[in-house]
Amino acid sequence: MINRVKGFKDILHEEGKIYEKIIGIAKEFFELNGFKQITTPILEKTELFVRSIGETTDIVQKEMFTFQDKNGEYLTLRPEGTAPVVRAYIENNLYAYGNIHKFYYYGPMFRRERPQKGRLRQFHQIGIECFGSTSPLLDAHVIYILDNLIKNFKIKEALIEINSIGCKNCRPGFKEELKKYLFKFKKDLCNDCQNRMEKNPLRVLDCKNDTCKEVVKNSPKILDFLCDECKTHFEMVKKFLKYFKVDYNINPFMVRGLDYYTRTVFEAVSTLLGGQNAVGAGGRYDGLVNEIGGKNIPGIGFALGIERIILLSELESEIKNTDVYLILLGENVYEKGLEIYQNLINENIVVEFDYEMKGLKNQLKKADRLGARFAVIIGEDELKEQVLLLRDLKESKQEKISFQELLKKLRS
Ligand code: ATP
Ligand code: MG
Repeated sequence: MINRVKGFKDILHEEGKIYEKIIGIAKEFFELNGFKQITTPILEKTELFVRSIGETTDIVQKEMFTFQDKNGEYLTLRPEGTAPVVRAYIENNLYAYGNIHKFYYYGPMFRRERPQKGRLRQFHQIGIECFGSTSPLLDAHVIYILDNLIKNFKIKEALIEINSIGCKNCRPGFKEELKKYLFKFKKDLCNDCQNRMEKNPLRVLDCKNDTCKEVVKNSPKILDFLCDECKTHFEMVKKFLKYFKVDYNINPFMVRGLDYYTRTVFEAVSTLLGGQNAVGAGGRYDGLVNEIGGKNIPGIGFALGIERIILLSELESEIKNTDVYLILLGENVYEKGLEIYQNLINENIVVEFDYEMKGLKNQLKKADRLGARFAVIIGEDELKEQVLLLRDLKESKQEKISFQELLKKLRS
């Protein structure tokens, strides 16, 4: 027996429908807002992610599925969607068409993390990326779209958190202050953070370790160090969020795990997720297009994890099961029975029937196993009378009705 790779999973039974439903809801809302779909390859050159996500980040240091191709080139299964979209945007000269570009995507991402609830090595994201504007109105609109989606996904106990992490002018000053502060508590920090402290002190703010969190509680806050431009930008984002009627919390310690962010960062969190509390996250990345080799074009976007949405969503209960299990008893009944089957599916009613032509008891059991709402039973006697038995499997009631009445009854 050959098993699947650790941290990868098969999508089985009704789950596929939930994925499709979630993607469908997102697509509809993105398109309502003028976003265009973009699909990039799953495999990219390793360099793309090292340069964009950042050499000292967890993703690049330990989470990428990287291998050397036969020609010696290093390739990586994409760990996230932003860098590939930025690459495609530059490579296909998409910026040449108009000023603002709004894209959405969905598909599998790969990170070699420790698998646990809500954390896989192949997971699926839905995301958007917008290019060409530094306006805080765009930040607020993007956050509004995220907020709207988590509402449409019926995510339990969800809320939006925002922060500003400044720009290349004001962040260095903050980093220095933070380093000084962290140095005083070095012995209380976890091993990872003792290393991070030197190279990337912001990352300590994001640590999920309890004692690190204690230290972080009283650390300097980046919002106190923002330059005037960043401060004004953040104030405007908050104002527009109010106009969009988005409720949010300010989380001064949110930094995000990727290096390319500037100014506004945000997350959709649910208190029900515990350690893995982000359902979706994103931010502004004004330097990224340039960093990857394009012009100086600003950008902003977010990504949502579909598996996390599924963990928290109430959509599952709305997934359609089999409506009718058609039980045909005796070969002579099949002509009429299959006519009824076709009439029902033409009306978008989910119908299943048995191929083995077994007896009533056996078929009722199958109907039950499928969770069918109704059984429609036709035997030789019913055929003679031109009637059928409609059995409500939930309420355990049964009635005899004419063929013509069936559709009307099912509709009601
Ligand atoms: P976390 O803090 O949970 O590790 P992250 O900061 O690494 O998240 P992003 O890179 O911003 O996450 O990805 C956006 C979303 O993708 C997350 O909010 C989450 O829903 C989902 N996600 C990220 N990593 C995984 C994973 N290994 N398995 C399942 N979903 C994931
Ligand atoms: Mg992560």
